[in-house]
Amino acid sequence: MNCIKCECPELNDDDEYCWNCGYPIGNFCTNDHCVLNNGDPVPCPDNASFCSACGSETTYKVEGLISPIDFKRENQ
Ligand SMILES: [Zn+2]
Ligand SMILES: [Zn+2]
Repeated sequence: MNCIKCECPELNDDDEYCWNCGYPIGNFCTNDHCVLNNGDPVPCPDNASFCSACGSETTYKVEGLISPIDFKRENQ
């Protein structure tokens, strides 16, 4: 598993923070009132720019680490 921020390649699956840059590992819904939020941040897929349950931006998107995939262009 690689850190999305510094691309450190030596992270363990159960690490919660990158040991190289301190970035929290995982992409989460930024909406505290997300329909799936039961007290913990709602995890989203690493390539998701928005939460599929509530439509709010994800942490990776807010940080500018990912942007929406342009499926139209990819299909041309
Ligand atoms: Zn890192
Ligand atoms: Zn959400």
